[in-house]
Amino acid sequence: MAQEHPASGESTSLQFIPLGGLGEIGMNCFCLQQDGQILVVDCGIGFPDDDVGVDVVHPDFDWLTENASSIVGLFITHGHEDHIGAIPFFIDGLGSEIPIYAPRHALELIRSRLEQKGRRIPKLQRVDCGQSYQVGDFLVEPIEVAHSIIDATALHIQTKIGSIIHTGDFDLDEVQPAGHLTNGRRFRQLGDEGVRLLLSDSTNVVREQRSGHEGDVGVALKELIAAQTGRVVVGLFSSNVHRLDQLVKIALSSRRRLCLLGRSLRKQFEIAMKLGVIDVPPHCLIPPESLADLPPEQVLVLAGGSQGEGPSALRRLSLAQHPLLRLEKGDTVLFSSRVIPGNERGVAVMKNDFLRQGVKVQDQKNAPQLHVSGHASREEQRKMIEWVRPQTFIPVHGTLYHMQAHELLARDLGVSSTFTIENGQVVSLEEAQAYRAGSVPAGKVRVAYGGQTLDARTRRHRIELGRNGVVSVSVVINQQGEMIAGPQLRSYGVPGLERDGLRASIEKIICEKVKDKVGQASLSLSEVIRRAVRSEIYRLSGVKPPVEVHLHRTGADKV
Ligand SMILES: [Zn+2]
Ligand SMILES: [Zn+2]
Repeated sequence: MAQEHPASGESTSLQFIPLGGLGEIGMNCFCLQQDGQILVVDCGIGFPDDDVGVDVVHPDFDWLTENASSIVGLFITHGHEDHIGAIPFFIDGLGSEIPIYAPRHALELIRSRLEQKGRRIPKLQRVDCGQSYQVGDFLVEPIEVAHSIIDATALHIQTKIGSIIHTGDFDLDEVQPAGHLTNGRRFRQLGDEGVRLLLSDSTNVVREQRSGHEGDVGVALKELIAAQTGRVVVGLFSSNVHRLDQLVKIALSSRRRLCLLGRSLRKQFEIAMKLGVIDVPPHCLIPPESLADLPPEQVLVLAGGSQGEGPSALRRLSLAQHPLLRLEKGDTVLFSSRVIPGNERGVAVMKNDFLRQGVKVQDQKNAPQLHVSGHASREEQRKMIEWVRPQTFIPVHGTLYHMQAHELLARDLGVSSTFTIENGQVVSLEEAQAYRAGSVPAGKVRVAYGGQTLDARTRRHRIELGRNGVVSVSVVINQQGEMIAGPQLRSYGVPGLERDGLRASIEKIICEKVKDKVGQASLSLSEVIRRAVRSEIYRLSGVKPPVEVHLHRTGADKV
């Protein structure tokens, strides 16, 4: 669907270089490069894709680090973690400091995160919609869009090859409690003037229409909470300030006291109150330590962890392991959130753990009005393309499946130059044409709990240990090669190996190998023992765990 041959001639060109978010939901980060200058847009993290102790996943920044001197700035669309969460990792790797431009709410979150991590604060420039900012040779104008967070923006970027519009994360919901509506008039106006490239959010391409409005969620929550006689816990995305604000009002009108469980939720409240977008009367908010003193019908708890994340408040409540609150029969948990693809199993386990405690659970399945998405449905995506009428279209913020469907939608609407590309693949644009232009290094970096990067080898080891366990063998021999102690066999996570018969069989093999002394001429005694033990374990139990052999020789330094 796209030209694949390079253009000829010396005309000015611009490269679109995605480093994250194209081919997956999350980890959003792309670059625009013209005349040796690079503008970076967004810098987010992704969810861990396996259960081996990974805390966060962020884009591989090697290409940007190598080109650090060309970076003119980082421009942020909004404050969701998949757009700002990787900033500390990104700036750590850069030798120089780059300015960061962000709307008000995202800027406060970035500042707070950098302070919390003890990082030097780079130049942070607050941006407002309707104004333009010169970043190198790029002129960037944020445009207001509706989304499940306050101060969300699209970007209009003027470049040497023409105007680029990046929608950011957006929807066209017209019933927003705080009036944060998408500025359709500005998109139409820019479309009239001519747009060279549109980059648009693909997340909800499979939904034909919006399922509801953010304003209606507040009405539904109010009714559901009013109908309860026990404690109510609402699990939600902590960054959805519109919804936090509505829940404060619901707490006041239902005569319940509000309690916040979860560090991220408390941080979001702190920033929203600082910005003046949430007003919580002091008597309304109670510290978690006071929960035990209140009758259940006066309690409204907001809790982070709606995706079942291991150490979150909601997960600990579901396991009856929260130190300050134990739910009981008659209490209710409302999931005012969706399940992000990939997290289904963990969320289902958590809901069942609540039910096991006699706690009622309501979610989008039995109360559809409990949540609406902040991403454009197909109908809204169609409207955006019709407003902007771009020369070239590239879908972003989606898996390959989502982006290909979005590309087809654009072609159905008459856009003839379209590209579906994934992270690292480059599209080069000139005034009149666009073509694929090779690739740059891109990938995922996994950061383990504790903050260390989990390299590919260590990750493989963790996966192997999780699947097969590990065995360690200790043997002590004297200078004549006779075994004088052991063998000592220890196993972790290998099923059945502790049974006496199996253990004796393995120890017998070790003794035989030591008696043979030389083993196979080309192999050390340690290696002979390792191989023999591993194949015996495989024969006995059907698994091949790693085997560590510690061979100690008395009277010699070398082991
Ligand atoms: Zn978002
Ligand atoms: Zn996003």
